[in-house]
Amino acid sequence: MAANKSPDVIVIGAGSVGTPAAMSMAEAGLEVLVIDRLPSVGQGSNKRAIGGLRATHSDPAKIRICLRSLEVFATWEQLHGDKIEWHKGGYSYVAYRAEEERTLKELLAVQKTCGLNIDWHDAPSLLGIIPDLNPEGLVGGTFSPDDGNASPLLAVHAFYSRAGKLGAEFRFDERVTAILAEGGRVRGVRTDKGEYAAPVVVNAAGPWAAEVAALAGLDIPVRPDSHEGGVTEAVARFLGPMVVDIRPAPGSANYYFYQHDTGQVVFCITPCPSIWGMDTRETSTFLPMVSGRMVEVMPRLRNLRVRRTWRGLYPMTPDGFPIVGWDRALEGHLLAVGMCGQGFMLGPGLGELMTRMVLRKADEQDRETLRYLSPYREFKGQEKLK
Ligand SMILES: Cc1cc2nc3c(=O)[nH]c(=O)nc-3n(C[C@H](O)[C@H](O)[C@H](O)COP(=O)(O)OP(=O)(O)OC[C@H]3O[C@@H](n4cnc5c(N)ncnc54)[C@H](O)[C@@H]3O)c2cc1C
Repeated sequence: MAANKSPDVIVIGAGSVGTPAAMSMAEAGLEVLVIDRLPSVGQGSNKRAIGGLRATHSDPAKIRICLRSLEVFATWEQLHGDKIEWHKGGYSYVAYRAEEERTLKELLAVQKTCGLNIDWHDAPSLLGIIPDLNPEGLVGGTFSPDDGNASPLLAVHAFYSRAGKLGAEFRFDERVTAILAEGGRVRGVRTDKGEYAAPVVVNAAGPWAAEVAALAGLDIPVRPDSHEGGVTEAVARFLGPMVVDIRPAPGSANYYFYQHDTGQVVFCITPCPSIWGMDTRETSTFLPMVSGRMVEVMPRLRNLRVRRTWRGLYPMTPDGFPIVGWDRALEGHLLAVGMCGQGFMLGPGLGELMTRMVLRKADEQDRETLRYLSPYREFKGQEKLK
């Protein structure tokens, strides 16, 4: 950014969403300033993500955004040279009961209409794709071969480097303490180190989004809940897709695991009931719970040694869908919050959508997407593939 020039946009949060958004805005010629209270890029929820990237969702908004994100992740190394450990292994939602078979089959219509490459496979066909699945009781499952995974830290760092080259400025170790307004319009922000003027301020503050929205007098339903992840030792490749089992069990909802580009199996489980709050200390219940379920669905995993576990935060919304849109009470205040368990995969596609919003170039399809994600929706539905 040129000296003494005010940015066009201030982004609060250099995480899974704020960083690719800044990159996309800088690419479009906007002057962008990103402010994060942590010491470097991606140190909030971003670095806790396990790296799953899918367009396999239950609604057109997330499917469309993530189809674009997948293009960005899949072509990144080829176009920009940085290794982000992208691996196109696909996603498979497996069904061991008629309930899950029905849910997954019902979603195929909307998924296919939105252009997702996905099909239902009966048990023998699915075992051809994932030979190590437990065949006992397996009904079948979906397989979406164009989904994949990548390293959240390498990817966000690659977006940060490119954003910087394009002129975006990042300020770390600096906390936004006020959103400044005048006559119903955003004027800029105040931090613990100074004041910055801009006509657009983006809230991309992840699990802290409600606290930041309150600085603009806005109450938004984003609450952090905690999820744990783990990683094993690296072994030779034996597993292609991310395996997702959405059956509930005592103490947990779904769980999912995949083999990373570098050989480790990375895994996660959704606790049930949810564990609300900001606590990121690991629990002793996570590993026995998730490993029991994983070994049941893939007995071969019992020989793997777990190297590390960690706990992080999902910025949750009541219906499991993100909140993206302009604040109606304060012109220039843009919300890109409530990413739940999908902020990493939404990031690049959402960043481009936000750029079109700021440039007032959103088209009819964007407007439809934004209606699904509106801050002013009723939050009555429930995302089926959270
Ligand atoms: C165990 C686990 C596994 C997951 N797996 C996946 C996965 O496989 N795929 C996927 O897509 N997602 C996954 N997620 C979810 C993903 O991590 C989040 O959805 C995503 O990181 C949210 O992105 P964000 O940019 O909104 O928030 P963040 O990445 O947390 O960024 C928000 C930033 O805002 C900054 N900030 C907050 N308040 C202020 C302030 N006042 N001033 C300045 N800066 C501020 C924070 O420091 C932070 O860096 C997982 C999460 C967990 C915990």
